[in-house]
Amino acid sequence: MAKFDLTDDSVVVIIGSGAGGGTLGNELAQKGAKVVILEAGGRHEIEEFVNDEWASFSQLAWADVRTTGGSWRVAKDFPNLPAWIVKAVGGTTTHWAGASLRFEDHEFRARTHYGAIEGANLLDWPVTLAELEPFYARAEDRMGVTGTNGIPRLPGNNNYKVLAAGAKKLGYKDFHTGNMAINSEPRAERTSCHQLGFCFQGCKMGAKWSTLYTEIPAGEATGRLEVRPNSMVLKIEHDARGRATGVVYADAEGRQQRQRARVVCVAGNSIESPRLLLNSASAMFPNGMANSSGQVGRNYMRHTTGSVYAIFDKPVHMYRGTTMAGIVRDEAHHDPKRGFAGGYELETLSLGLPFMAAFLEPGAWGRGFASALDAYDHMAGLWIVGEDMPQANNRVTLDPTAKDKHGLPVAKVHFDDHRNDIAMRDHAYGQGRALYEAVGATRTFETTPYPSTHNLGTNRMSANARDGVVDKWGKAHDLPNLYVSDGSQFTSGAACNPTLTIVALAIRQAEHLAGRMARGEV
Ligand SMILES: Cc1cc2nc3c(=O)[nH]c(=O)nc-3n(C[C@H](O)[C@H](O)[C@H](O)COP(=O)(O)OP(=O)(O)OC[C@H]3O[C@@H](n4cnc5c(N)ncnc54)[C@H](O)[C@@H]3O)c2cc1C
Ligand code: SF4
Repeated sequence: MAKFDLTDDSVVVIIGSGAGGGTLGNELAQKGAKVVILEAGGRHEIEEFVNDEWASFSQLAWADVRTTGGSWRVAKDFPNLPAWIVKAVGGTTTHWAGASLRFEDHEFRARTHYGAIEGANLLDWPVTLAELEPFYARAEDRMGVTGTNGIPRLPGNNNYKVLAAGAKKLGYKDFHTGNMAINSEPRAERTSCHQLGFCFQGCKMGAKWSTLYTEIPAGEATGRLEVRPNSMVLKIEHDARGRATGVVYADAEGRQQRQRARVVCVAGNSIESPRLLLNSASAMFPNGMANSSGQVGRNYMRHTTGSVYAIFDKPVHMYRGTTMAGIVRDEAHHDPKRGFAGGYELETLSLGLPFMAAFLEPGAWGRGFASALDAYDHMAGLWIVGEDMPQANNRVTLDPTAKDKHGLPVAKVHFDDHRNDIAMRDHAYGQGRALYEAVGATRTFETTPYPSTHNLGTNRMSANARDGVVDKWGKAHDLPNLYVSDGSQFTSGAACNPTLTIVALAIRQAEHLAGRMARGEV
């Protein structure tokens, strides 16, 4: 396995090993580049995963303190846990459910298509669907997405059967067991899904795509990728010409190390990536690295979410089989007649009993709550995921007082729903309830948004340097050799789950960066 010297300034340093960083690392190594991935979390292989919700959360989740502000419910319910994401090799692709959908064409042109919306900081992407399509195709093949490349869709569990029956009654047409990065048959030397139902806890079968056991070992096998776990990057450094020269990180023992670099790629997810850029302020970049526009940390998006659970006379056992077992796409399109811009998906979701107790109605107690939990085996459930509006003041900043164990300010996440988000959520709650009532639900519950699993937008792409942080390749407008390679480069969020787009962008970025390196431009 590769082992590069700290003083080797010919390596590409990637910060974070999740959907963006892990994919980019493999792609670059395959193309002949020398790559060091620095990952803040530990390396837990498949055999260490635990099929127990809280134990798995303790093993994998990013639990270091963050602070919150704003009027969103998460700030009240989970003030130090604004996001549910991972700190481990593989990043949040260990926890994720696997839903892998493409953006629609107009979703790359949100400002043009939706028009000006008061309070929203909408912008068109500098990338089109046509440009991204070949990379979507490569990402789907790489990830083994069902419903693409001749890969059969997964069988539907009971939670899906209830969803599909309700969708049919409402007249919906576009629903199925999803485009999932989960093997429905053995593929790419990984087995098929055994319907264990612990997708959020790290798939013990390895059937679900995760960079941990796909991209990363493939990159390591080239002899050109080194992954250093327990390596928390604290600062990106630069020279007098304004070129990134390397990073300072804390190793497993807490000692500070300096890794030199030819190129630095930031892929720490949409809270840590802007935090790192802000913590990398210097005399040359007084407001934070790559932040001449003042956009670093702004336009934080988390998708408009919420859940609807319903109780039926007969048992459903929604927890058996894949966690996200089906998707209704009929509401995903832009239809302003509904009273809001953008669209949303309805996706089955099952939480285990321990998480259900925490998330059904945070802080609730009494007979209504207990009787709902008593009926857990008779429940079906769905999750709403829709496009939320980028807003300049929904942002990640450095907390003025709270510091981490390295003495650096922690991220503070401020979020207020836009009225478009609220109108969309209300519509989706109504449709979710109607869907279940149409097939005999005796009781329905609307569940408020959980800590953010989709974190987007805080280093956004823009055609003009004044509007965003990176260009159409993810390269910082302000530095020639600094890239953003994760979901923070999203200009807008679209209705669908983001990871397929993060992976497609990483594959495309690797091609662009390898070309620049070959031409000696960087
Ligand atoms: C429960 C759950 C279910 C989900 N289901 C889906 C789904 O079905 N479909 C979908 O599209 N998406 C889903 N997601 C979201 C998806 O997992 C994320 O969008 C995706 O993983 C984000 O990729 P990323 O590269 O931006 O960041 P991540 O995958 O989160 O990777 C970031 C990595 O960077 C590391 N890091 C951060 N800061 C530093 C630092 N300073 N130094 C070193 N390392 C650092 C972190 O430890 C982490 O490992 C789900 C998420 C969760 C939590
Ligand atoms: S249900 Fe399938 S994808 Fe989910 S954890 Fe089990 S084997 Fe993996």
